[in-house]
Order: sequence, then C-alpha cells, then structure tokens
Amino acid sequence: MPFSIFNVVIAIAVALLLVRIGLKMLAGFARPVPTPPDPGELRKVRLTYECSLCSTTVRMTMANDEVPEPPRHCMEDMDLITSLDDI
Ligand SMILES: [Zn+2]
Repeated sequence: MPFSIFNVVIAIAVALLLVRIGLKMLAGFARPVPTPPDPGELRKVRLTYECSLCSTTVRMTMANDEVPEPPRHCMEDMDLITSLDDI
C-alpha cells in the first residue's frame, strides 16, 4: 500500500521536525555557560568594603576585575571585609 508508506514517511518527517524544535527549545532553556569577559568588561562581584575611619560599609556588585581597586571614603581606601574565598 503506497499510501500508507507515504503516511509513515510524513509521520517520520513530522516527528524529526518536532524533535529538532524540542531540542532547540531545550537549548534555549539551558543555562549558557558563562564565558570569562574580556579585560575591561564588567564582572559581577559581591564585595563588601568598610571605611576604616567611620565604619561606612558599601557593597560592590559590579567591577571591572574580580579583585578591583577599593573605593575611597574619608579620603582613604576602604578595607575589603569580604573574604576572597566567599566570592
Ligand atoms: Zn568614611
């Protein structure tokens, strides 16, 4: 029966198409592996600095380096109070 063979071929083609669409959607949902940014590009950091003079504390969330220059307060460099192991 040539007609049923034709149906099977169509069914296989549709199935393959659905599998491809499904794989594409899965790839879209999959979390992309973060690539290290080029030098000068911003990085997400979670650093906490404390002013040694007045104890003002700031949280840095973006930096151009994983170990950026500390911000200044009271004309002094602030102290990094986050352990670098916690990053
Ligand atoms: Zn201060």
